[in-house]
Amino acid sequence: MSKKTITIIGAGFSGLMTAIHLIVSKKQDLEIVVVSPQECFTKGMAYNTYSKHHLLNVVVGKMSCFPDEPEHFLNWLSQKEPYKKLDKNLLATVFAPRELYGTYLHETWQSVLQSYNPTNLKIIYQKVTDITYLSERQQYQIEISDKQHFNTDYVVLATGNELPKNPTIINSSFFQNPEYFQNPWMKKSVENVENLESILLIGNGLTMVDVVLGLQENNFQGIIYSLSPNGFQILPHRHNGVPYLQMLPELSAPYSMSKLFSIFRKHITFVRQFGISAEPVIDSVRSISQKIWQELSLLDKQVFMRHARHLWGVARHRLPTYIYDKIQELQRNQHLQIIKGKLLNLEEHASQKIKVSYWDRKNKKENYIWVNRVINCTGPNTDISQSNNPLIQNLYQKGLIQSDDLKLGIQTNIYGAIYQQDNEVNHRFFALGSLLKGMLWESTAVPELRVQAKNLAQFMLENIDKDLSNYDS
Ligand SMILES: Cc1cc2nc3c(=O)[nH]c(=O)nc-3n(C[C@H](O)[C@H](O)[C@H](O)COP(=O)(O)OP(=O)(O)OC[C@H]3O[C@@H](n4cnc5c(N)ncnc54)[C@H](O)[C@@H]3O)c2cc1C
Repeated sequence: MSKKTITIIGAGFSGLMTAIHLIVSKKQDLEIVVVSPQECFTKGMAYNTYSKHHLLNVVVGKMSCFPDEPEHFLNWLSQKEPYKKLDKNLLATVFAPRELYGTYLHETWQSVLQSYNPTNLKIIYQKVTDITYLSERQQYQIEISDKQHFNTDYVVLATGNELPKNPTIINSSFFQNPEYFQNPWMKKSVENVENLESILLIGNGLTMVDVVLGLQENNFQGIIYSLSPNGFQILPHRHNGVPYLQMLPELSAPYSMSKLFSIFRKHITFVRQFGISAEPVIDSVRSISQKIWQELSLLDKQVFMRHARHLWGVARHRLPTYIYDKIQELQRNQHLQIIKGKLLNLEEHASQKIKVSYWDRKNKKENYIWVNRVINCTGPNTDISQSNNPLIQNLYQKGLIQSDDLKLGIQTNIYGAIYQQDNEVNHRFFALGSLLKGMLWESTAVPELRVQAKNLAQFMLENIDKDLSNYDS
């Protein structure tokens, strides 16, 4: 009997947890290969952060990496100083540092390796640059950065979050400027800022907040401008975590945006008369939001993207109150200024200052500010046709993957099996994580990804059994 090989590309949360579920299955007629750069192996981008002030945006009690052991992270953290001193019920409601979550993932991985000693696991600390389908062998050839290659039967794309897309401006040569940072998660973007007067952050979400905290840590004393089309104020986690259950029974198929808007409006008005904010109403839909998204028509999804996406983002992606208070204080003393506008141009001048021109939506006129640095905080790019990842570019050009209709990720079926550009679904080539945003909408945070990783591992194990029985017969 020939062994089958599964190659997982990317060892952030999604790839790592898929590998763990394959390892614990103890299936011996299987080779598991994990290919990912060493610097953020196990942690991915989110949990490899440079600052202790970058906190999880989900409470400890909901961040277990195993869907069937909801208290796994809580139990791990409750053994660590100083968290062991805190009552466990309270600890479950804490927003812990993301760096610590990275340590949790690393230790979980190490403990799986120790317990199972998987002799069928191979780790390659490299980047995959290309994949070629070998039709006569029904295998994939994986090319890695040092031009070596190997063959595999199954591929899992877990390449995760991309860099933000460069904004559309008149002077695109500006992006070569050393004071422009496309990657807002790298430490360099907030360093050497003591003597700078002002910095522009493009975007106004959780990444903007991370960068503000990073700049503060590096003694930046000047003005931070945050420019975004809506200038929405980021919200804190205000309610007490008690779920609101009264709306769910009304959310039955068939779904349409107008029906959903009216149900949401009714329930938000209802809770507000008791002084309760809208967040528990918004949060209550999370358990079925993927189902709703999949059943909405394309037109309704487009309506959502055009009219409700930003509001939804503000309602869903909130800040721990302690961080929220810091941001409020910075706004009160004008160190942080939120501008509602559309970026038009970025130009460098001889003074080494950067002129930022934008359409001022409040005053309805073109306006400008001067800054010393620009950091792109618009969030990960989802349009694979403009990916920064050479692997994704190659796969897209070869037609091995295609965009979903809304350009939020790639087209797959519900198991994450990828549709090629000839519209054939491929049961040996899978994706998970944020690449599935177009298919599932909510496909970003640990509570969704841990389920995806487990289900995908299970699905592949079942498929491999079928493959092997075909081989035997
Ligand atoms: C800044 C930030 C903070 C977040 N905070 C939270 C939070 O508090 N709670 C929460 O639930 N979610 C949070 N998220 C959501 C986050 O997306 C998920 O929790 C999770 O980390 C995503 O894991 P992933 O493995 O899918 O992607 P990633 O973490 O991005 O990992 C992808 C991995 O693939 C590797 N890779 C990419 N291309 C290749 C290639 N060609 N070859 C080989 N390897 C490759 C990368 O190096 C990386 O290690 C946050 C996201 C970000 C960006």
